[in-house]
Amino acid sequence: MAKKGDMLYAWTNDAEIKKKAELGGAVTALWKHALESKMVDAVFAVRKGADLYDAQPVFITDPKELAQTAGSLHCGTLLMAKLVKKYLDGAANMKIGVTVKGCDMMGFYELAKRKQIDLDNVIMIGVNCGGSVSPTLARKMIADKFGVDPDKVHKEEIDKGQFIIEYEGGHKGISMDELEEAGYGRRSNCRRCKLKVPRQADLACGNWGVIGEKAGKATFVEVCSEKGANLLNGAVKSGILATEAANPKGLEIRAKVEGAMLKLGEKWRKKDFAALGANMWETINKETARCIKCYSCIENCPVCFTTPEALMKGSLMVKPGELPPNPMFHLRRFAHISDTCVNCGQCEELCPADIPLALFSHAIRVEGDAAYESKLGKVTYTN
Ligand code: FAD
Ligand code: SF4
Ligand code: SF4
Repeated sequence: MAKKGDMLYAWTNDAEIKKKAELGGAVTALWKHALESKMVDAVFAVRKGADLYDAQPVFITDPKELAQTAGSLHCGTLLMAKLVKKYLDGAANMKIGVTVKGCDMMGFYELAKRKQIDLDNVIMIGVNCGGSVSPTLARKMIADKFGVDPDKVHKEEIDKGQFIIEYEGGHKGISMDELEEAGYGRRSNCRRCKLKVPRQADLACGNWGVIGEKAGKATFVEVCSEKGANLLNGAVKSGILATEAANPKGLEIRAKVEGAMLKLGEKWRKKDFAALGANMWETINKETARCIKCYSCIENCPVCFTTPEALMKGSLMVKPGELPPNPMFHLRRFAHISDTCVNCGQCEELCPADIPLALFSHAIRVEGDAAYESKLGKVTYTN
């Protein structure tokens, strides 16, 4: 029986899931078991939408429908926590299972701390995350750098430091370093991210450390909680999931890769924060002057659940409709999330004025943490 702290290789015996899955289908098989055994009432996961670059959230109650959620969508930058708060009443009245990247997971904790999500009703399967790519930039990158029509691509993956595509007529990989040097590759918030293995979820799954004959056919599972151990043991008992102890060499490799990713994250932080220079507030002032006050950054922030009107209420300086906005509009928003920003990049991703909002809030958050020590409650994450 698996217990908290165990490290395993896991794969499914379900043929339909195996065919569609990223690395052996353990995650989807675990969800299928969770639904069939009524451990959860519903699973909230992600599926391919209009095309490969379009990740859609999907709410599933019928286990037969789960196979459509198998596979990793690296252009899926959406965050799940706010959707659970907004549309599922913060899981107050039902038990749900959610697949989470590190930033998704932090969003859940931040909302739970503010009593907007009931974590007792949530099981989280975390996926390790080296980073995600903006859907629009991915299309441009594939056309410009790979010389391939993005609509002809049927699979993308990130493996061994490369962005790899499969398309009608072949496959091609280019190193992330080269792509990022040219202004493509992972989103800038992802480059700075240091939450690569989501250990505060119930299980943390990924490909790092899967070696030998299981490479590409199984996922590496770190059991992070009793809840996670119960889910895993139940799935094995039901026959949908098979496991074996992780190869000790694989454990070493996984730790090394994680360490290298954390160093890389630190390098990007230094670079990006240094570029803000000594005049960070002047830069913020200048860049935010082109804001059109659409409120997308407020509405899509996974940790902020106020309304734009409530956030600005009482400010004599921030008037509705005023453009360019008084700098207080942005300063209020940054102050509001200064202790909670999880650097998920949603604000920047969805800003129609292309303002580097995530960089600003992340820099403010990191500076605040350094000065006051992180006050993130029972969960400690270094993001
Ligand atoms: P499957 O059974 O195929 O299930 C995959 C699950 O992931 C499904 O529930 C699906 O809905 C969900 N999902 C797919 N895309 C997203 C998304 N964008 N956001 C949230 N959920 C999503 N592992 C590593 O070891 N190193 C990495 O660098 C790494 N980077 C990743 C980056 C991204 C953006 C994602 C989504 C995953 C990454 N993984 C990484 C995890 C890895 O790709 C597999 O998801 C994991 O090994 C589980 O494999 P599986 O076959 O069991 O999953
Ligand atoms: Fe992954 Fe971190 Fe980017 Fe979130 S912020 S998508 S966890 S790399
Ligand atoms: Fe302004 Fe961009 Fe926020 Fe819209 S998303 S309110 S344009 S900063």
